[in-house]
Amino acid sequence: MTDTAAAPRLLENYVAGAWRPAAHASGTLDVINPATGAPLARVPLSGSEDLNAAVSAATAALPSWRAVSTIARAQTLFALRARLDARREDLARSVSTEMGKTIADARAEVARMIEMVEAATAIPTTMQGYVLEDVSRGIDAMTIRQPVGVCAAIVPFNFPAMVPFWFLPFAIACGNTFVLKPSEQVPLTQQIAFEELHALNLPPGVVNLVNGGREVVESMLEHPDIHAISFVGSAPVARIVYERAARAGKRVQALGGAKNHMVVMPDAVIDKTVEGIIGSAFGAAGQRCMAGSVLVTVGAAHERLLPALVRATEGLSVGNGLEEATDVGPVISCAARDRIEGYLERALAEGARLPVDGRSLPGPASGLSPEGAFIGPTIVEAVTPEMEIAREEVFGPVLAVIHVASLDEAIAIVNASRFGNGTSIFTESGASVRRYQHEVEAGMIGVNIGVAAPVAFFPFSGWKDSFLGDLHAHGRDGVEFYTRKKTITSRYYSDGQGSEAYFIES
Ligand code: NAD
Repeated sequence: MTDTAAAPRLLENYVAGAWRPAAHASGTLDVINPATGAPLARVPLSGSEDLNAAVSAATAALPSWRAVSTIARAQTLFALRARLDARREDLARSVSTEMGKTIADARAEVARMIEMVEAATAIPTTMQGYVLEDVSRGIDAMTIRQPVGVCAAIVPFNFPAMVPFWFLPFAIACGNTFVLKPSEQVPLTQQIAFEELHALNLPPGVVNLVNGGREVVESMLEHPDIHAISFVGSAPVARIVYERAARAGKRVQALGGAKNHMVVMPDAVIDKTVEGIIGSAFGAAGQRCMAGSVLVTVGAAHERLLPALVRATEGLSVGNGLEEATDVGPVISCAARDRIEGYLERALAEGARLPVDGRSLPGPASGLSPEGAFIGPTIVEAVTPEMEIAREEVFGPVLAVIHVASLDEAIAIVNASRFGNGTSIFTESGASVRRYQHEVEAGMIGVNIGVAAPVAFFPFSGWKDSFLGDLHAHGRDGVEFYTRKKTITSRYYSDGQGSEAYFIES
């Protein structure tokens, strides 16, 4: 990918096995490199008719894809894994260019994307049902799993490679067909992924990509031939998607926003804890749903930690994510930067202090493009739990610090949040960890781990306003979400046993 092309290309949708222009787009948006302000491409805002074409293709492909053996579907995923592996660096550079995160973060994201495919290759094992012989004399019962049908996913800007792959590989491994709507802010990385999917020669319509925004989403929520919807994005949109898709009778999982706390106990190993906090708060410029955005220091941890944390934060270099030396890239857009600065101004007005203030970045002499969406890592101190900066998702490189006297108080603060995506505790005490993991109301817990990142074989998601639904993403939950269970009870009379009364043992 380059951002020096004269006329940014207009992206196409991928429908029924071919790249096609959006025929019913209401307009286009520029895809912007957030480090330079340069346009990278134009993305169509596809219309509901474009979505309908993709759903028709996915519906038409269902019988033939479902009939492909489970082992052959797994082999297709092995082939996909090999193709994506060969494109790792292209994918990572695309992620960094369109989203802004550092190239190291982008490579890690692509590694996790590929791990999702690896986990889905286990489908001949993970999709198995179960059998019980002799539920009654001569009568057996078994539960089998079958695909749900046409499945759709709506994804956010912050993981252009990985988040779509929380869903796509598991959905098609289970024999479903799939329609993806990428984030209109970062649609380029999935163009590469779909080039590789195209090369697999799947039956046309097994995987489809429709670029666009709200109109495509709303059409998905109402479409009678879409059977399951996965959403990842902000909490308000997650609620809309959950309610409307459920009302339309669809299976739905909606992963929303977050406000993640990191609790540091007085016995934490300080240098390692600082590393964990820095990675969590400022990695991907704080634009991770698992970003630690509130630091809760317990007792003496505060004085032990803060000086080292401030020093390390001041040492981070802000720049274009594609440069290997950059620690913190831009945020997604200048509008996002302005929004984040608004949070800081209001925190100051509420009485907070900024021992590290990312609003004062070095000028153009530092090599930062004046058109870039840069805001440096920021520490907000003297924060109380009631302040906006402690409650709302900022989604930028901003760490609010709250000091408390006890683990009890820390747990109370974590549990008072309306979000419950992830949280971390830093301590060497098993007893503190045991209490913490038992009592906190969150879906993902890190112990001396700043970002309890998704692991493909385990389910991933939050609680409370961070998640609406029942089954989380990937892992065993992914297979549950993408399959319907069918229970068969059977007997045969000719073996001489099946004539017993059903369920009545003599
Ligand atoms: P967003 O909610 O603005 O957009 C997400 C998707 O929804 C996009 O594809 C967008 O086109 C669509 N969309 C936006 N507004 C819509 C509307 N009014 N109606 C219908 N569709 C709409 O989120 P974002 O800014 O792209 O991503 C950042 C958010 O995602 C953060 O809140 C972050 O915490 C969250 N997130 C959560 C997780 C998780 O696992 N819980 C993971 C990644 C990101």
